[in-house]
Amino acid sequence: MIKTRFAPSPTGHLHVGNLRTALFNFLLALKSQGTFILRLDDTDTERSKQEFIDSIQFDLEWLGIHWTRVERQSKRLELYREAAEKLRQKGQLYECFETQSELALRRKTLLNMGKPPIYDRGALALTEDEREKRRSQTPGYWRYMLNGQRINWVDGIQGAISIDTSSLSDPVLIRADGLCLYTLASVVDDVEMGITDVVRGADHITNTAVQIQLMSQLNHPHPRFVHHSLLTGPRGEPLAKRLGALSIRDLREQGIEPMALLSLLTFSGSRQDLKMGSNLEDLASYFDLPNFSTAPVKFNESDLNDLTSQCLAQMPFSAIKDLLEEYKIPAHLAQNFWHTLRANLNQRKDLHDWWKILRDGAVPLVSKDDLDFVRQAFSLLKSPPYDQETWSQWTKLVSHATSRKGKGLYMPLRKALTGRAQGPEMNNLMPLIQKVTREFEVSDGEPQKD
Ligand code: GLU
Repeated sequence: MIKTRFAPSPTGHLHVGNLRTALFNFLLALKSQGTFILRLDDTDTERSKQEFIDSIQFDLEWLGIHWTRVERQSKRLELYREAAEKLRQKGQLYECFETQSELALRRKTLLNMGKPPIYDRGALALTEDEREKRRSQTPGYWRYMLNGQRINWVDGIQGAISIDTSSLSDPVLIRADGLCLYTLASVVDDVEMGITDVVRGADHITNTAVQIQLMSQLNHPHPRFVHHSLLTGPRGEPLAKRLGALSIRDLREQGIEPMALLSLLTFSGSRQDLKMGSNLEDLASYFDLPNFSTAPVKFNESDLNDLTSQCLAQMPFSAIKDLLEEYKIPAHLAQNFWHTLRANLNQRKDLHDWWKILRDGAVPLVSKDDLDFVRQAFSLLKSPPYDQETWSQWTKLVSHATSRKGKGLYMPLRKALTGRAQGPEMNNLMPLIQKVTREFEVSDGEPQKD
């Protein structure tokens, strides 16, 4: 059975970049009725915040991404300690004392000599006395001794990968304050939780080589690894700096629909054409890892506006019913209201503005040239309620009386009735109108806003 996990560090809000990782893991599990675990990588107690845990969970729930269970690394420290002890006993963890500035200097020297800036394992050369002395000044931290072998795996998106671990610095697994770092904690969790597929960003590829080696040293087979390429801005620029602005909560506030965002992220970087899903099950059935390219993926947030309109245009009544109730749209009109309006929305809160217009009458939009025409036309319009025939009957009457036709006839009437130049078919809209404004003055400005 497929078991995946999404492992955010709760040090910030969810954004389109890490949502894409969450979504891939979720869809992979959903596709095969597997398990999806939300793992909070919260061992860094200074940077991890409950506020971010809450917000990540809220955003995922809002998107319909539900987890089978949630785990917090801060509650699993004992397991990491045991694994570190095993490695220590095998002589694969060694204590180091170099400061950041010492290391930086060594790196610089190596680079000046044209050599790769790999940690030289200087700490191994210390005698026990020297070690004692350094320890009394500052506590040591612990590095994992890579065995220098080449690590090969077949990645679910990147294909065959081969990394020579002799080209890497021995990674620090335990900090001087005893805190177990991500590399080891993640290995312990992936093994202990029986994760079958690890899907994450391509920025983790080198980590993966180290983690595979660690897993084999802890006597465990490794899961399948899938590294998706990273998102860039529309011109290929790194997205990293703008991710704060692309947080899910901001997109929600801008009125972006969950399925618009999820559909875009499901297909971005895939060779398949985008299909708007009605729900996550749809997206899971379209989702296909081998279709993803290894090239960075351009993310253009402006696509989300069109997709949001498209998403609303195909949304069934059942999905919006509660909101219409909240907006106090009478139950007997609600269904008709939705089917008439849904293809004309930028975002769902436009429904509120439309309902105000229909309920209270619009602030008419009338140009100087149309003022007399509009007054005459409205004298021929009876009061609501209207039906499906009202618009054609009325416009026929008006045409007869004024000799206007086509756009010159319809547009001023639409603008006077709705205060807008655009909107749904008027014959469908008329039965929803509760009140008509019959006082007109020249006003050709911006359409009314709430
Ligand atoms: N907390 C890590 C991150 O957010 C998890 C990486 C992983 O999926 O292993 O980058």
